[in-house]
Amino acid sequence: MANYIPSVGMEVHAELATHSKMFCRCPVAFGGEPNTRVCPICLGLPGTLPVPNRAAVELVLKTALALNCQIAMHSIFHRKNYFYPDLPKGYQVSQYGETNPLGYNGYLEIPRPEGGTKRIRIRRVHLEEDTGKLLHLPNGGSGVDYNRAGTPLMEIVTDFPPDIETPDEAKEYLRQLRQILIYLGVCDGKMEEGSLRCEPNISVRLEGSSTFGTKTELKNLNSFRSVQLGVAFEVRRQIAHIEAGEPVLQETRGWNEQKEASYLMRVKEAENDYRYFPDPDLAPMVFDEAYIESLRSSLPELPLAKLLRYRESLGLSDYDANVLIADPEWSAFFEEAVELGGDPKTTCNWMTGDFAKMLNEVGNTPRQSKISPAHIVDLIGLVTSGAVNGKMAKDLFAQAFKEGRKPSEIAKEKGTSQITNESEIRELVLKVLSENAEIVSKYKSGNTGVKGFLVGQIMKQSNGRANPALVQQILGVELDQP
Ligand SMILES: [Zn+2]
Repeated sequence: MANYIPSVGMEVHAELATHSKMFCRCPVAFGGEPNTRVCPICLGLPGTLPVPNRAAVELVLKTALALNCQIAMHSIFHRKNYFYPDLPKGYQVSQYGETNPLGYNGYLEIPRPEGGTKRIRIRRVHLEEDTGKLLHLPNGGSGVDYNRAGTPLMEIVTDFPPDIETPDEAKEYLRQLRQILIYLGVCDGKMEEGSLRCEPNISVRLEGSSTFGTKTELKNLNSFRSVQLGVAFEVRRQIAHIEAGEPVLQETRGWNEQKEASYLMRVKEAENDYRYFPDPDLAPMVFDEAYIESLRSSLPELPLAKLLRYRESLGLSDYDANVLIADPEWSAFFEEAVELGGDPKTTCNWMTGDFAKMLNEVGNTPRQSKISPAHIVDLIGLVTSGAVNGKMAKDLFAQAFKEGRKPSEIAKEKGTSQITNESEIRELVLKVLSENAEIVSKYKSGNTGVKGFLVGQIMKQSNGRANPALVQQILGVELDQP
């Protein structure tokens, strides 16, 4: 079989994390009774006048800057005209043109599995409004809910010819983009609630050919997994068509999560003509250099830069770094602990181990818990100085988690400190050996596996306070006495 190269373009829609809608004061929220967050403006009633949401414009500008875009210093809104019941005005306010979208000609870097990064060019980042939702009712009728109508929506589109050439790259692009949006506080990134929606378009061409194949578009993918599987499925499906001598049609296809297969929704025969024109109700936007620069300097460190820093300066593994970076609150907590002197790897282990487990059990985020970065650093200090052993540290952490007190304070109060005095440990060892004469004789007759049992007994006698390394050492000496 010939070798085919896939090309994947990505269109991502992100609902902006504003309090109110794009052109009215209705609140933005997920769920709720249908048509309870609507007003004459977002219902598109005649005689109403929309006023743009300044916060939404700012969130899109921030995203455009984080995606290395050029900024349209003059920008306008257009009307995109089409008829559908979820669009009460008969048009969607959007942004048209090559250099009119708030951001254009940018890029996003994704990490390559073999190291380094790959640059994915971005064609435009623009601002528009979301539509309502059509609901198919159990009695066979249809209803429409306009709660979502007029929610600020950002569209991010990759450039052509596409830079993404594998299902993994498509998934990684979406993952990086989602993290950036979460770090910027632009979008909550909840794909399952539709806050972030992805529509890849896919084509394949023979290796060496400069002509791109016919592309198909996948609709409404709502997880990283479905993006990866969906793109892989389309690539296989298109290659099979070509190999069988059948043409690939320009189709819009849906994704069946259960069957892990795409299905035909409609064949595109011609490009839709949306009759775009400038919205006469909305004033042009004009930005000055100082405002854009102040936004640029307000951007936080972005996830990829953080990943590289955690890996290269802090010596964390790729896996550990990714776990910490996945959530900005989590990584801020980690960085605070490291700044207070916590060893990065040990801090990470406490956070992703006991801390994460206990947070999960009670359903809290790190900042909602009683544990602070200083508590973790304090605990690490106790272990490093030999004041407590690993088992005791775990108990102290559990108690600190409940009470919010410093582990060293709890240790002091309980008199919990590690026994490192050799004669004290030898005393314990001899006591356990005399109580377990039968086990000792088993050991002497060659069954050395019983040593672990004896270690356990000694630790138990010391209430877990004996230094385990010293116990091992002294027990070894005593057992091997003739
Ligand atoms: Zn409204």
